[in-house]
Amino acid sequence: MMTDSEILKIHNALKTGSLSCSDLIAGKIGAIQKSSNNTANFLLEEMALKMASAVDNKIKKGEEIGVLEGVPFGLKDVYMLQGFNASGSSRFLKNYISPYTATAIKKLLDAGAIPLVKENCDCFGHGSTSENTFFGPVKNALDENLVAGGSSGGSAVNVAKGFTAFSIGGDTGGSIRQPAAFNRVYGLKPTYGRISRFGLMAYASSTDCVGPIARSLEDIRIITNVMSGKDSGDSTTIDSVPISDSIFYEEAADNEFCLGYYKSFIENENIEEKIKRDFYDMIGKIRKKGIEVKELEFFDTNVLVSTYYVLAMAETASNLARLDGTSYGERLVGEGIKDDYAFTRSENFTDETKRRIVGGTQVLSHGYSEGIYKKAKILLREIQSKFQSDFSEVNLIISPVTPNSTPQIGESLKDPLLMYLSDAYTVGFSLGGLPTLTCPFGQGIQLTAGKNKEALILKFANYLKSII
Ligand code: GLN
Repeated sequence: MMTDSEILKIHNALKTGSLSCSDLIAGKIGAIQKSSNNTANFLLEEMALKMASAVDNKIKKGEEIGVLEGVPFGLKDVYMLQGFNASGSSRFLKNYISPYTATAIKKLLDAGAIPLVKENCDCFGHGSTSENTFFGPVKNALDENLVAGGSSGGSAVNVAKGFTAFSIGGDTGGSIRQPAAFNRVYGLKPTYGRISRFGLMAYASSTDCVGPIARSLEDIRIITNVMSGKDSGDSTTIDSVPISDSIFYEEAADNEFCLGYYKSFIENENIEEKIKRDFYDMIGKIRKKGIEVKELEFFDTNVLVSTYYVLAMAETASNLARLDGTSYGERLVGEGIKDDYAFTRSENFTDETKRRIVGGTQVLSHGYSEGIYKKAKILLREIQSKFQSDFSEVNLIISPVTPNSTPQIGESLKDPLLMYLSDAYTVGFSLGGLPTLTCPFGQGIQLTAGKNKEALILKFANYLKSII
């Protein structure tokens, strides 16, 4: 057994009777309520306590329990959970109740995991700091003057603080990986399509991914396996092979790992000196073990950021068109129907979301789409084919998560463009649809592999942990 698995620790304590599930759940909910990190939009106390007492009764009767049974988790407030609020951290949907449950969440519930909290995040996934939220900024787990990262900030903080055993974030361009780095926990953006998006509020559908945030690699493995699989509710889902726990025990074969890193990420004037130094130190340690690390050419980070934001804004402008106060959300009344729509949409969306809707509408409109949107589509294909050729040369790409260290609360709001540029290292892998893991080493290290190679990433992450 991997000793640092929170899930297995809880499972064993419940099984042996050294911990009651009701006490566990009540303790975690109490800790969230007392904390000043502002991670919770909605607590699911009543349901969680009911589920916990059912688990306790089962154990008392001597019945077997599954590995996830009774294990408390959090979910970003962009997931549907039937009968409960799903706000996307927006004013628009602050009273919206989910009519059904997201597939990924349903699989966790079926395995017996207990949902505690709908977690605060950037509104509709728009942001990198978890400050763009109707519920007020989330505060970093290590230092409350710093941002939590985003958009899945509440989820990463809950895991880092031990308020949840694991949390389910959402990652379109870095929203699991970057807050995981800022709060020093693991976060996986799986291969696009591995986990169903059904029941996840759409930001940019072509890169939206569901994924776990946890304190150990074993926990990331367990949760990914449970949530994966084809789903009739999401036609982009794919079949995948479960990741075996043997990856954590078996010796790596000679030349099993062959790494690359992108020179354009590191030899760049926007990277902080310390992040660059730590990165080269890490490369040095890996090479010392006889593992090859190749320097690779790649697109300029500005190209990646521009391509991502053009596509993400276009998709979100289209996805959010449904929020008009008629089919969904809070309706505000003006003078006549046109005015109602204008009033409803201008009052309910935040400035950051409006910036994206206006930008997205612009790049899709006649006279601009040829020059901007279609160009981004061409670049997308070039980026994807470059990844394909890189993964015929190496099997893992290593990079920092961000060029900068965690910002102070309030700092990024002054300059949205600078915030977009801070996504320089995460967005490219999203465009590639590739699996990428954040490891909490230093300011965070990302490991990326070819599609469906999550097992290789986890195996190398476990090895890397042992040599640093
Ligand atoms: N920070 C990026 C953005 O604002 C990524 C967000 C996400 O992955 N949801 O688009």
